[in-house]
Amino acid sequence: MGKNEQAYACEAFSMNWLSTVGPNLTAFERDFSERIGQPAVCLASGTAGIHLGLQLLGVGPGDEVFCSTLTFAASANPILYLGATPVFIDSDCATWNMDPAVLERAMRERAAAGKLPAAVVVVDLYGQCADLEPILEICNRYGVPVLEDAAEALGATYKGRSAGTFGHISVFSFNGNKIITTAGGGMLVSPDAAVVEKARFLATQARDPGVAYEHSQVGYNYRMSNVLAGIGRGQLEVLEERVNQRRGVFAKYEQAFAGVAGLEPMPEASFGRSSRWLSCVLVEPQQFGCDRAELMAFLDAAGIESRPVWKPMHLQALYTGAPVYGGEVAADLFHRGICLPSSSSLTDDEVNYVAEKVLAAPRNIGREVLTHA
Ligand SMILES: *Cc1c(COP(=O)(O)O)cnc(C)c1O
Repeated sequence: MGKNEQAYACEAFSMNWLSTVGPNLTAFERDFSERIGQPAVCLASGTAGIHLGLQLLGVGPGDEVFCSTLTFAASANPILYLGATPVFIDSDCATWNMDPAVLERAMRERAAAGKLPAAVVVVDLYGQCADLEPILEICNRYGVPVLEDAAEALGATYKGRSAGTFGHISVFSFNGNKIITTAGGGMLVSPDAAVVEKARFLATQARDPGVAYEHSQVGYNYRMSNVLAGIGRGQLEVLEERVNQRRGVFAKYEQAFAGVAGLEPMPEASFGRSSRWLSCVLVEPQQFGCDRAELMAFLDAAGIESRPVWKPMHLQALYTGAPVYGGEVAADLFHRGICLPSSSSLTDDEVNYVAEKVLAAPRNIGREVLTHA
């Protein structure tokens, strides 16, 4: 937390505005809109935003929706909420995000078969934007709307413009593990103010105007509370600092691993500035001397929590049978990729300790094998 989150949250208590209406919500949406440059609505989660966003783009039962395969499940699950089917698209090595060439092929084949997707969910992974210009060009050419899942990329840029402003609808997350947090929450933005108002309406039970409880369509209870919006206001004030801290953590790892064969930090594409939400590294076992799983076990024994890169959606039991274009690149990134401790609160000593243990892993795993033999 920064300096002001608690004060804003306390205001909600002192004014007795604790629920889904109040001055913090108004102010958080206003400040966020100013920063991003698009109208915004606060929601209970990023997942809620993707659900509402896809519905507002017209996704419904029987539709197909293209989605990056290398992502967290929350990018794809709302496709199922709506009775639609995901079609997964592989990553490219330069960005780890949706490969525009694979997207192009998928669009061409789907168009030829007479069934274009109802929407495309493009994810900005680990704080780095996808190559949005060619992706948008392809989608516009086929007349398919885009939802940008910028849950992990608040504070990043693409060609100087904020991540999460490229979709017809874009979504951010303030979950506890994201770059800024409201404990839990999300934001839906769009260049179209009417779309944002429609999302607000659906997120508050779709109650028709007037004092009576009149409903003509299905709504959801997806609004953020005024208490949590207070946390968001304070967090937004420290966003730039948090991005710099995360980038600082990544830079330290990168420096420590420079010239080490078989350790390859996630590349930063030349088109933008990543927020480096998580510091990810590829492990090439032949060159490095141990594989990703051995490295994780060694780090765990040293008191260091690490995680594999997201398991691609096309490899999930949940999505068995879902169509996929490519998938080998994402699978390889998953098998070799590790997410190292990345919090903005890490001290230099802590990052150095992690880097030291990473570098010590191959040597010690060899020794362990030797003693067991
Ligand atoms: C965290 C995350 C979400 C979901 O956000 P919540 O606020 O946790 O619902 C969606 N997509 C991606 C890529 C995420 O990392």
